[in-house]
Amino acid sequence: MPVYARADVAFERGEGPYLFDTEGRRYLDFASGIAVTAFGHAHPYLIAALEAQARKLWHTSNLFRVSGQESLAARLIEHTFADTVFFTNSGVEAWECGTKLVRKYQYESGHPERTRIITFEGAFHGRTMTAIAATKQEKMVKGFGPLIDAFDQVPFNDLEAVRAAIGPNTAAICVEPIQGEGGIRPATVEFMQGLRKLCDDNGLLLFLDEIQCGVGRTGKLFAYESAGITPDVMCIAKGIGGGFPIGACLATEKAALGMTIGTHGTTFGGNPLGTAVGNAVLDLMLAPGFLDGVQAIAAELHAALNGVVARHRAVLAEVRGVGLLLGLKSVVPNGDLVQALRRNGMLVVGAADNVIRLLPPLIITRTQIDEAVAILDRTCAELVP
Ligand SMILES: *Cc1c(COP(=O)(O)O)cnc(C)c1O
Repeated sequence: MPVYARADVAFERGEGPYLFDTEGRRYLDFASGIAVTAFGHAHPYLIAALEAQARKLWHTSNLFRVSGQESLAARLIEHTFADTVFFTNSGVEAWECGTKLVRKYQYESGHPERTRIITFEGAFHGRTMTAIAATKQEKMVKGFGPLIDAFDQVPFNDLEAVRAAIGPNTAAICVEPIQGEGGIRPATVEFMQGLRKLCDDNGLLLFLDEIQCGVGRTGKLFAYESAGITPDVMCIAKGIGGGFPIGACLATEKAALGMTIGTHGTTFGGNPLGTAVGNAVLDLMLAPGFLDGVQAIAAELHAALNGVVARHRAVLAEVRGVGLLLGLKSVVPNGDLVQALRRNGMLVVGAADNVIRLLPPLIITRTQIDEAVAILDRTCAELVP
């Protein structure tokens, strides 16, 4: 179905932070399949994990124990707030699991009337019927009604608006610690801490969508760590598979109290292939010093981008974001910038608010930052209105 405005380029192979198209042209990949290929393309360790699993076993369903799923869950539990994990094939399924979980929690806790979730302007949670109802954006919802009426949307980073929106039917607050599609807009630490307190004071669950900002992207394993709080529920996907489709919904034992046998399920979610790759991704990411290295290289990229913006005020307005989840607010139409960068051999992703996203793999080096800056400088010079 023609639902995508695809660029007229097809890639044949990838190698680390580079992609090669069918004509043999090389591109510096600062799109990473939209924050997915955390270790670049064709990483030997991930290939080995997938190949080894592919020779043993592909799929058995969740009617049986899946050992890779058990070990991946145990590791996610060890390194996060969570006590329990449900695996999915995609981000939105993990998010959907979270929305079911918060309702069930309130129902089983004696508050069946608490069914509504507070969400934020600029949020993105995926494309199912429920997720588009949560994001409420015209371009996503028009023509798809009637939508589930379960979400109350308020301005981002506005704690007073959240407080005012909490009512007797509120079950949870769902937030991206850094809005990705919304234009790389980070929640402030005060906002995240304020949300935690509002949830505690009102018997609500704090539900984080870390599908884009989680799994090492900010230089922490998860973005919430930087705010000094923990959620009750969190969905992840994108980076955890390094390019293999897998997602997960993590929760505390308490929040998941209603998710008992038969209440939820999936055929493919958490299958041996996906969890083998997820475990391999965590092997690399949890290696001593790896995330410190991401923070260090991210600081260099951030500083270099500030330089680019200072040199090209007619084209770029500012640098945004945390770690390697970075955005450049554009002065010219962001689509023009995305195209011009691609012509010059660099891939980036557009976002709302006239922003381009820079989402390099977490393995980029100093040399590749220099290469990116050179391409950005050349492209901005071409685009001066
Ligand atoms: C990508 C994304 C989703 C949806 O994930 P899919 O795998 O496309 O279903 C949800 N929330 C956020 C924050 C995302 O970035």
